[in-house]
Parts: sequence; C-alpha cells; structure tokens
Amino acid sequence: MLNKRDIYTALIEVVRFYKRLDFDVLPSIPFELTAVRPHPEAAQPRLMHPVQATVVASQPKDPISPSQAAPQVIVKASKLDSNRQDLLQDIRDEIGQCTRCKLHTGRKNIVFGEGAPYARLMFIGEGPGADEDIQGRPFVGRAGKLLTSLINKMGFERQAVYIANIVKCRPPGNRDPEEDEMKGCIGFLEKQIAVINPEIIVTLGSVSTRILLKTDKRISDLRGHFHEYRGIKVMPTFHPSYLLRNSSQKWTTWNDALMVLKELGLQPLE
Ligand code: SF4
Repeated sequence: MLNKRDIYTALIEVVRFYKRLDFDVLPSIPFELTAVRPHPEAAQPRLMHPVQATVVASQPKDPISPSQAAPQVIVKASKLDSNRQDLLQDIRDEIGQCTRCKLHTGRKNIVFGEGAPYARLMFIGEGPGADEDIQGRPFVGRAGKLLTSLINKMGFERQAVYIANIVKCRPPGNRDPEEDEMKGCIGFLEKQIAVINPEIIVTLGSVSTRILLKTDKRISDLRGHFHEYRGIKVMPTFHPSYLLRNSSQKWTTWNDALMVLKELGLQPLE
C-alpha cells in the first residue's frame, strides 16, 4: 500500500525523468502508478525511468518532438558492417531502375532504406513521401524528424538503426500503397530484413503493420504488444505522420519505445 510520501517521491522522479529527456510537455495526471519502487538496477549509472508508470489517461502535447539540445546517444553505428553492406548493395542492384509496379511512373528517386546493416532495431513505414522522393532517403520530412527524435531519445544514433518502407517509390498524393504495389515491392524488404536480421522491428502505422503481420486488426489494437515476423519480435506503433496530427498519442508511442528498449536490455538516456 502506498503512502502519500511514496507517491510524492515517485511523481518527483517522473518529472525529473522527463525533464532530463527535454520533453516539452509532461503528460497530464492521472498516471497509473503500476510500481513506485526504484528499478532493480537503479544503482547503475545509465538507469533511467526510476518509476514504472503507465499513462492511462493523458492529453500530452509534445513528448517526443526534437529538442534544441544536441541528441545524446549511447548506441552508435558500427564501422564493421561491410559484409552485410555488400549484401544490401546486391539487393539495391537487383532493384535497379525498377518498373515492376505502377509507382515507378511518378517517382523521382527510389528510396531503398538506410542505416546500420547490423542494426538491432529496424523501423518500417509504408512508403516515401514528397521529401523522401526528392532526397532518395527514408523519413527525412517533418514526420522523419519526429522519428529521428524518437530514435535519439531512445538512445540510438539514427545511423545505428535501419529505416525502410514497404514500397520504395512514392505513392502519388501520399496515398496509401495499393495491394499490387506492395505485392510487387515487399520481396525487396523481406530480403533487407533477412540480411539485417534485427532483434526487433518497429512497424510505423497500420499499413506496414498489416502487411508484415498479415493481419487486418487495427493499429490501436496491436500496438503495445510484441508480435512476430519470421522469428523477429515486432512492435507496432503509430506512424510519425499520425503523431504530428495527434500529439496525445506521442506518449503512447513513447511507452511502446520503452517496451522495445526493455526487450533489448537497454534504457533511455539520462
Ligand atoms: S515501388 Fe517497388 S516494385 Fe514498385 S516500382 Fe518502386 S521499387 Fe519497383
């Protein structure tokens, strides 16, 4: 049974925790304090999140947005990635100037994907948008900046994870990719996943989640739990574009990220 002093101490720790992460806005009360005891490894200097709190009813605005401070990272990209890099290059060569589906007609650049070939963590979205089409890189627009901020706040350099999409050419008008387009392109992503062999895949939004997990369930029903794709754990969460329109779900996404970190045996930066 918690007394007032325990609860007060726990809340102070929560505030300090989010403050250290440069979060602009704290989630509104109430929290459901599922445990107000320090984490068993609290003595370790890298330990974060001293209180395990689940947000059950919050209206936060902006918990994972980029902050002014330079990102601190503890998981850096390795320079010893040449073998898998070669294998990924083989897949890129196979794609060539692909005309396998109708998306090739409007694209400026193929967005293959980028990141560490030995990444422990892989993020998969549905397809490139306008900025990505121009630059030929995944998640570089507004939504991409939010994703990068999330990755950094999880303690990773962006280059230390791998980021890709279901389709590699931009669907016109940023519509969802159609079934035939995804069917034509998914094989390349499957090969990328097989080469990288991440420990965890985070699917961003309903389209990539539905395709990878072969399910029709809603993202809101799937997120917050681990699923499986060919022996790899999959955590579905909201797409950054959706988060730009629905700030309150950023905290939900952050909770998903914390579950991923825990599964990897990592903790967010202090
Ligand atoms: S989306 Fe994929 S299958 Fe379609 S043209 Fe682009 S690379 Fe080829």
